Amino acid sequence: AQASRYLTGDKAGIQEFLDKFDVFLLDCDGVLWSGDRLLPGVREAIEFLQSKGKRTIFVTNNSTKSRQEYHKKFTRLSIPCTPDDIFGSSYSAAIYVSRILALPTSDKPKVFVLGEAGVEDELRAEGVSFIGGTDPALRRDITPEDFDNLADGSALDPEVGAVLCGLDFHVNYLKLATAAQYLRRGALFLATNTDSSLPMSGSFFPGAGSVGFPLVNMLGRKPLALGKPSQAMMDAVEGKFHLDRARTCMIGDRLDTDIRFGIEGGLGGTLAVLTGVNKREDWEKPDAAAVPAYHVDGLGDLKF
Ligand code: PLP
Ligand code: CA
Repeated sequence: AQASRYLTGDKAGIQEFLDKFDVFLLDCDGVLWSGDRLLPGVREAIEFLQSKGKRTIFVTNNSTKSRQEYHKKFTRLSIPCTPDDIFGSSYSAAIYVSRILALPTSDKPKVFVLGEAGVEDELRAEGVSFIGGTDPALRRDITPEDFDNLADGSALDPEVGAVLCGLDFHVNYLKLATAAQYLRRGALFLATNTDSSLPMSGSFFPGAGSVGFPLVNMLGRKPLALGKPSQAMMDAVEGKFHLDRARTCMIGDRLDTDIRFGIEGGLGGTLAVLTGVNKREDWEKPDAAAVPAYHVDGLGDLKF
């Protein structure tokens, strides 16, 4: 496997690295913070990059919050950033539905949502109609009548043309059964992201990809995922921020999402931090998901 250059404590190496890029795409959880805890030196590193004239854009697979809501966390942790500098997987999915899918017909399909308010807020902002999501009517046990009404279609909305799966903390059998019926009837299968795990409280829990997995398993179909490493997201980021990919670097903690996202997007570079999901041994093994061009112990090391 190719080697990854280690930059922690290497001032000349960091200078050379910084000179290669104008824009940094930064993953959030595992890079800036871990849960609610700001990681060491992060605020100073972001300020340092910005003081050198670098553009910082925050790209997260967390679909549970809209960009506006997510921005509150940046403010709370005093990380310099505007809501416009944030690009989340819910927003990525919403623009895909409203601008890409709608292209041939100009009709935006109605969406059945398996997910939280972040998905709903971003769909609403893009003018996409949706059902499901946080609707309290779906937070209950399935009944024999539900099976009948889903099977004969009387409980289904004929306008639904897509199912969008994100992380849903209230997932249950009724929602999965409803989503499955739309998919059986030909609805497009979309996902905000397919992260297998959700890092929380120093451990791992089921991520969005694991919440939607019963549908994949049942239908034998995989969703089109619109978060990292999806290149639909990269194209949308490029369009919004007018990126020069060769002068852009992706910074992340996860090889299968962040580092793959940067490599498959043909970015000028990728940098891994060791404060999140993956460690050095993960890219040193032969079946590594991706090898970062550079790595540091933590984002806080990217300054001098
Ligand atoms: N999805 C959810 C619901 C999350 O809470 C998180 C992390 O907080 C993620 C995905 C991963 O986010 P990121 O891409 O910023 O690491
Ligand atoms: Ca991360």
